Amino acid sequence: MSSAQVSSSKASGSILIRGGRVVDPSRNVDALSDMLLDGGLITDVAAPGKLDAAAKKLRAEVLEAKGCVVCPGFIDLHVHLREPGQTHKETIRTGTLAAAAGGFTTVCAMPNTTPVNDTPEWSRWMQDPEREASVRLLPVPAATVGSMGEKLTDYAALKKAGAVAVSDDGKPILEDEIMRACLVAAAKLGLPVSQHAEDTRLTGGCSMHAGDVSFRLGLRGMTIEAESQIVERDIRLLEEIERKEKLRPHLHVQHVSTLKALDAIRAAKKRGLHVTCEVAPHHFALTDEAVFREGFGYETSAKMNPPLRPESERQACIAALLDGTVDAIATDHAPHAHHEKNVEFERAPNGITGLETALGLSLRLLHSQYGMPLGKVLSLLTNRPAGVFNLSGLGTLMKGASADVCVFDAGKVWAFDAERSLSMSKNTPFHHHAMQGQILWTIASGRVVYSAK
Ligand SMILES: [Zn+2]
Repeated sequence: MSSAQVSSSKASGSILIRGGRVVDPSRNVDALSDMLLDGGLITDVAAPGKLDAAAKKLRAEVLEAKGCVVCPGFIDLHVHLREPGQTHKETIRTGTLAAAAGGFTTVCAMPNTTPVNDTPEWSRWMQDPEREASVRLLPVPAATVGSMGEKLTDYAALKKAGAVAVSDDGKPILEDEIMRACLVAAAKLGLPVSQHAEDTRLTGGCSMHAGDVSFRLGLRGMTIEAESQIVERDIRLLEEIERKEKLRPHLHVQHVSTLKALDAIRAAKKRGLHVTCEVAPHHFALTDEAVFREGFGYETSAKMNPPLRPESERQACIAALLDGTVDAIATDHAPHAHHEKNVEFERAPNGITGLETALGLSLRLLHSQYGMPLGKVLSLLTNRPAGVFNLSGLGTLMKGASADVCVFDAGKVWAFDAERSLSMSKNTPFHHHAMQGQILWTIASGRVVYSAK
């Protein structure tokens, strides 16, 4: 063996994951198996005991996974890692440590940094080893220059620099002609356009959902139509482009939170349009009642955009997750410093951290409370998000795939402690909330990047 081979195998190590329940939704696998990782790849999956000799030869580290689930590392289509420029909230290093603690091995980073990531240079800078990411970071650069909604960025150059989609995230593209141009340009390159659906002309000065709670608190609220009208408009554009341009644009709707928007997406999928969508755990776990804090008034750690909605909308999100309309669970991890969140409700920035609570909420609610099979929950965190952003070779435990693996105890119920979060920011409404499923190890490209022990 050459020294080069030795050092490369040391960099990622050899690991035997022994005796676990291997659940790989990409291949409909759910069986007791051992798994061997070597050189950053999954080299073998076999019946328990069958890989012991090979592992011994490689002097592999052994992880005892008896009683645990072994699945592909999770993929988050929507995170804010705040770098460049907002490193008092989070850095790529701390954000990806939190990702690893939550079982994620791939995160897609939104462009609302300072400056906005709207160039191949910044996209490459974010992926540079100097940023010390512990999991794979895939950039989602801006769809328009500076996310100003006026001039398209250079999609071909961005794609070359690793972009997996384009998005103006918090600044939805409102002008029909600009959105049409984005969809056309992206379709020519096979890139999805990931849209935050909000008609900001209807939500100016609003800080929560418009309903009983906003009325009680005397806060201006955002309507359901502010979300659904943009989704409906974007779907109309897709139809028009398919008909007139003979292209097949792909619209990905971010963090959907309303029945109306979900119904529009469901209908568009039935008509064969290329629409996908994600739901964030907070939208299936909480309602706008979480904004109300007894004796104090409001709770800024429950302020995000789209806002928490009433129970009827939460139920609509759960129904759409159960019936397959939703393609991915995405966290919208949005760290903010304490001094930024600890202000009057209307002045507080939108967003909550989410990487370390995604599995815990998904298992407790979707699996245990609403009966979604474990494999289906995991597919929303693995192969289905991989499919949305065309991440071939990720979200699967196929032999030869990247050794991105998550090992967790599916039955363990525990309370989340925000103070112990690895994120630099602690802005979460889930402090002390019950979680189900504890991550024991996260392995990214063959390296153990998180260990509970
Ligand atoms: Zn976001």
